[in-house]
Amino acid sequence: MILSRRASLMLGLATLAAAAMPRTPLAQTAAPASFAYPVEGGQVVFHPVDHASMVIETPGGVIYVDPVGGADLYRGMPQPSLILITHEHGDHFDLPTLQALPPVAIIANPAVHGMLPADLQGRATAMANGDQAQAIGMGIEAVPAYNTSPDRLQYHPQGRDNGYVLTIGGKRFYIAGDTEDTPEMRALEGIEVAFLPMNLPYTMTVRQAADAVAAFKPASVFPYHHRGSDLGEFARLVEGSGAGSLVVLANWYPRGEG
Ligand code: ZN
Ligand code: ZN
Repeated sequence: MILSRRASLMLGLATLAAAAMPRTPLAQTAAPASFAYPVEGGQVVFHPVDHASMVIETPGGVIYVDPVGGADLYRGMPQPSLILITHEHGDHFDLPTLQALPPVAIIANPAVHGMLPADLQGRATAMANGDQAQAIGMGIEAVPAYNTSPDRLQYHPQGRDNGYVLTIGGKRFYIAGDTEDTPEMRALEGIEVAFLPMNLPYTMTVRQAADAVAAFKPASVFPYHHRGSDLGEFARLVEGSGAGSLVVLANWYPRGEG
């Protein structure tokens, strides 16, 4: 077997992690780290699940964002009240996972809405770029998510896919979906926490992501959907930009980045 240098490094890291992990049932079932933010009426708690999938606890209910990878990944998580889907790619939308989760309301972009079988479509709402809605006590705004680099336009064409800004207890939380640093992203205001993708060729470079952070200055920014990206470089660029945003590095790849 021939391994690239990067693959060798990743294998090395995976081995280290396995060696360092105590082999007790408790450690193996321990929930991943979560991140809590106070809002009016309670708090918002983010649980990174994998890559682009996360669980968000809010005072009005629990949201599963882009759940994929099978329902087993969600064992031990609180039950959902709402499922949010950004777009149709397999790392964001997986029908078997949706069918295995509790039958709750779904909000998706129109393209995914059109792909749902009748039973799921019956409890789903389509939101297009710019649409606003209320659900489980929060405001939801669908914001554009698309590629802008000429050689990446085929991945996420403008107008199809969503990011979401959630207004919960007076604070605004931004889940970008798969996108580059669009003018709409750069124009966002008053974002408490932003989740930004960075990986090539599908989304953007760490430099583009850091440039966007410098433009809209979220209080905190989580890199996510970052497989293969240099997060140290991202953090250095954000710090050097003077944006004042806190970079939060969570474990989005508990099963490795492979
Ligand atoms: Zn995508
Ligand atoms: Zn993706």
